[in-house]
Amino acid sequence: MSSAPARSLSRASVVAVHNAARLELLEYYLVHYEDLARSSQASLDWLAKHAGIRRAMCLVVDTESGLLNGIAGTGVRAEEIELFSWPISDVRDPLVAALTAPGPVVVRPARGNSVVARVSPETPLGAGPFIAFPLRGVRESADGALGLLLIRPVAVPESDDLTWLVTVLGQMIEKVRGRGSLAEEVRKLRRERSLFFTIINSVTDPILLTDTEGRLIVANARAEKLLSASEEESEGRRRAVELNNMLFSAALSRTAVEAPSEARELLLVDPSDGSDLLFEVLSTTVEDPREGTGIVSVLRNITDLRRATEQIEENYQRLRVLEAAARAERDRLNLIIDSVADPIIVTDPQGETVMMNTPAEELFTVPALAPESAERSVQSNDAHFSSFISGLLLGETGPGEIRRGEIGLVNPNSSEPIPVEAIAGKVLTESGELTAVVTILHDRREALERARLYEQLKQASDELQVRVQAATAELATQNELLRRQAIELEQASRLKSQFLANMSHEFRTPLNAILGYTHMLLQGVAGELLPSVKRQLQRIDSNGRHLLTIINEILDITRIEAGKMPMQLSEFNLNELVPEVMTELDPMIARSKLTVTPRLSLEPPIVFSDRQKVKQIVVNLLSNALKFTHQGGIDITLDTDREVRTASIEVCDTGIGIAAEHHERIFEDFRQVDDSPSRQYGGTGLGLAICRRLATSLGGRIALHSTVGQGSTFTLIIPIEAPQ
Ligand code: ADP
Repeated sequence: MSSAPARSLSRASVVAVHNAARLELLEYYLVHYEDLARSSQASLDWLAKHAGIRRAMCLVVDTESGLLNGIAGTGVRAEEIELFSWPISDVRDPLVAALTAPGPVVVRPARGNSVVARVSPETPLGAGPFIAFPLRGVRESADGALGLLLIRPVAVPESDDLTWLVTVLGQMIEKVRGRGSLAEEVRKLRRERSLFFTIINSVTDPILLTDTEGRLIVANARAEKLLSASEEESEGRRRAVELNNMLFSAALSRTAVEAPSEARELLLVDPSDGSDLLFEVLSTTVEDPREGTGIVSVLRNITDLRRATEQIEENYQRLRVLEAAARAERDRLNLIIDSVADPIIVTDPQGETVMMNTPAEELFTVPALAPESAERSVQSNDAHFSSFISGLLLGETGPGEIRRGEIGLVNPNSSEPIPVEAIAGKVLTESGELTAVVTILHDRREALERARLYEQLKQASDELQVRVQAATAELATQNELLRRQAIELEQASRLKSQFLANMSHEFRTPLNAILGYTHMLLQGVAGELLPSVKRQLQRIDSNGRHLLTIINEILDITRIEAGKMPMQLSEFNLNELVPEVMTELDPMIARSKLTVTPRLSLEPPIVFSDRQKVKQIVVNLLSNALKFTHQGGIDITLDTDREVRTASIEVCDTGIGIAAEHHERIFEDFRQVDDSPSRQYGGTGLGLAICRRLATSLGGRIALHSTVGQGSTFTLIIPIEAPQ
């Protein structure tokens, strides 16, 4: 059947008049090759014009929907064409049957008797029979024609033009259909390609497909950025890309040789800023039936990962250092805590004990070989401590604040009560969060004992003070009494001196008269005296003189004490004084038969002092030496000490000596070594007393060195210049 129109066409080609018209239609097809409706409409228009067919319509099979749709018409309303569609499911239907018919069929109304005895459908062509031409392409199809050309009336004569048109229209439909599906495929391919690139470009890691030679086949945008650069791009960027290509190729070949599936690190350069980028390359070999063997490489940027790893490593190291420091700190803290004698307990914010030193353990843990009571003691200690700590945990104590309290604890070993002062402080983090509570327990026994002792001491001190006050008052009374007594004594002494002075004076006058008359009688003024009378008169004279000496000495003392012996200061030479003294005592020296040796000073000892008083002292010392020496001799030695500016006169005898216990006493008034009534030596016991007073008044003193039986040395020491 399909060959018939072809033959018609070749036959028609000889008809020159139609050639131009036919070409025009074919050109139209070419121009509007994609628009089936327009080309079909042009075909019907061409048919009306060249074959005189006024009423026709074109139907096209839509295999997807299973419908025969109207797409063009002539001599019918356009809307009706558009609205017309006929199902092709029923093969007995005359239109559907026409699709598979070998050539044109006439479709008549029901009672018709033509080729098809079926009821014709209601078409826009109107009631009555019409001819249906199956429109076929070049390719044979089992599904039947691609569409139908319906023409009315059936009486239309078969012409070359109609046959030609049916042929080209069928081929045109076939081409458009075929082209449509190709375009669709291309579109689909394009879509898939675009989707493929969208997908691989959306991956932030560079992805590349290379051939076995390492040539790039496909790369995503990220990979392009790293590995390709156009001529217009900067020199630096191109160099970077070149370098990257080299590095990547090298890595790829290495991977292929060494271990294809293993991830490798690859260091590339960022062409935009020149920074280093570290990648991990994962390469996989792929087989494509058309492209052959290729290598897909995914470059994972691990620069940040590496940096993060390094950071983590660094942080880990730092953490370890900090951990070591914290451990050292903790050890040191432990050492400190353990070296403190007071119990220390560290508790967590829940009040649980986290650390305690040995002294604290002794209070809060039951010892191994402890008495039964120990457990009770520990429990009681725990309870007391917990209540103290809970007070602190509940209270609003700020950082650095300290809570103090007294707790009664018990020694678990001895059951002895231990009053302690608990001092607790909170340990807070920088954000103010409580981390621990440190409590130090201070044993108060010693402090309490000290306080008790202090109380006792204070009491004793108070008592003592009272006593001292009483004693002071007593002393004041005694002092007052003494003062009064002193005044009284002074008065008495003054009265005594006065009395003695008066008495001496009163005694001396008659005594001098007695001595005068006695002397006259002894001189024979009243005639020659009998020897017995003379002896008695001599005794009177001797006793009288002794009494006069006593009276004079008493008078001297009273005058010295009454301050009535004024100083007569003058400059004199002691070397000259000594011979004078010896001369004065010459009778006594002669009687004693002792040798008196003056040892004068080579340098003249000139002094400024009271000559009379010095002489009186030396006379007294020499007369005592003569009196208490029976054999040997007496030396009188003079000396001066320029450094301390003193002069000394030393009287040294070989006499009876003086026992040590008498050395001080003999200078007292009326004091003699032998004061018994049967004493051997005469004297008043006032001589040395007067000498000491006189020496003192000269600003000097008398020193004594003596040994019983060996002799005595009395030394008068006076200042070279007597004080005024
Ligand atoms: P008296 O008038 O008794 O000598 P003194 O005051 O001069 O009084 O001496 C007191 C006593 O000191 C003497 O009685 C004597 O016992 C003792 N005495 C003084 N000088 C000497 C001496 N050179 N040798 C021994 N005894 C002395």
